[in-house]
Amino acid sequence: MSLPEFRLLRPRSIEDAVRCLSEHLGKDGLSLRMLAGGTDLIPSMRQKLFEPEYVLDLRGIVAMRGIRPQGDGGVEIGALTTLRAIERSDFLRQHYAVLTEAAATVASPVLRNMGTIGGNICLDTRCLWYNQSLTWRKGCGFCIKKDGDLCHVAPGGTKCWAVFSGDTPPALLCLDAEIEIASANGVRRVPLNDFYTGLGDNYRKLQPNELVTRIFLPASTAGYRGVYRKLRVRGSIDYPLAGVAVAMKSYDGHVADARIAVTAVNPAPLLVKGAGELLMGKPLDEALAEAVGDLAAKTAKPLTTSALTPEYRREMIRVFAKRAVLAAAAN
Ligand SMILES: Cc1cc2nc3c(=O)[nH]c(=O)nc-3n(C[C@H](O)[C@H](O)[C@H](O)COP(=O)(O)OP(=O)(O)OC[C@H]3O[C@@H](n4cnc5c(N)ncnc54)[C@H](O)[C@@H]3O)c2cc1C
Repeated sequence: MSLPEFRLLRPRSIEDAVRCLSEHLGKDGLSLRMLAGGTDLIPSMRQKLFEPEYVLDLRGIVAMRGIRPQGDGGVEIGALTTLRAIERSDFLRQHYAVLTEAAATVASPVLRNMGTIGGNICLDTRCLWYNQSLTWRKGCGFCIKKDGDLCHVAPGGTKCWAVFSGDTPPALLCLDAEIEIASANGVRRVPLNDFYTGLGDNYRKLQPNELVTRIFLPASTAGYRGVYRKLRVRGSIDYPLAGVAVAMKSYDGHVADARIAVTAVNPAPLLVKGAGELLMGKPLDEALAEAVGDLAAKTAKPLTTSALTPEYRREMIRVFAKRAVLAAAAN
C-alpha cells in the first residue's frame, strides 16, 4: 500500500509548529496531520484512513523531548520522548514504575525506539472494520468512523465503538497525569482523565490547531508501586486487547491509596470507579483482590472490535486486575 502524496513541514520550535497549524489546517481542519514517531500515522495513511495535504513532522522540536525531574518531586516528560527512553529511565522506574512497565510492553523494541509518549496518548482508536485497506473497507461498506454512517460492531446504533488501544494512558491515569496543550491561543493544562471523550470517532478533546507538548506527573503519586498486565495475540509486538494498570501505596500492610485503570476494552482508557475506596485502609487478601477484579470487569465494555471475543477480553480484565493488585501489594 503506497503512501498518498503530501507536503512535509518541519518546524524547529513549538511556536513554529503552532504557526504551521494555523496556516495549513484548511477549513475542515483535515488538511494537516501531525507526525511524532509515525508508527501509527504512517500505516493509517497507507490504508488511506488519512490523506492530508500536509504532514507536520514534530521530530525537530528539541524542547518537546526529555524527562525532567522537578524540584517539587514530580516530573515533566516531553511529548516527543520515545517509549524506549521512558522504559529505560532509572528515575521513572524508581518513582513511577507503572509507567515504565506499561511503556516496555508497547509493540516491539524497534517501534518503541520511534514511537513517542505523545503519540501513544493521542493514538487513534482501532476497530476490525476500520484498520483495513481502502479496498477492504469499500467491499464491506464504510462505517461511522470513516466515510459511512453504519456501525458493523453494533448494527443499528449511531455510536462508534472503536477501541482505544494505547498502553501508557492507563498507567498515566493511575498516576494522576496532566498534559499541556499548545495552540495559537496559548497553552492549557488538563488532567489526562478529562482528555478522552468516550466516543470511538471523536475520541479526544483536542482541536485540530492544538498539539500536546508535555506530560506532568505529580509528586503525590511518586513512589507508588506499579504493575501493568496486558493481553495480546503475539507477545512480541501486538496492540493490547485488554490491559490493566495498578498504582498502589501501602502503609503497615494496609492499602493507603490505590488506582486501577483499564485499556483496550472501551473507546477510552478508564479509571475503575470505586476501586480505591474498596481497597483503602484494608490489608490485601485474595477475596479483596477478587472484588477488585469484579469491579474492573464491570468497567470493561468490549465488543467485537478485535480478534478475541468480548467475553474472553472482559474475563481477562477480571483476572489481570486481581493478579495486578496482588502483585503490587507483594512488590
Ligand atoms: C505493529 C504495531 C504494533 C503496535 N503495538 C502497540 C502496542 O502494543 N501498544 C500501543 O500502545 N501502541 C502500539 N502501536 C501503535 C504505536 O506504535 C504506539 O502507540 C506509539 O506510541 C505511537 O506513537 P508515535 O509517536 O509513533 O505516534 P504517531 O504515529 O506519530 O501519531 C499517532 C497519532 O497521534 C497524533 N500525535 C502524535 N503526537 C502528537 C502530539 N504531540 N500532539 C498532538 N497529536 C499528536 C498524530 O497526529 C496521530 O494522529 C503499534 C503499532 C504498530 C505498527
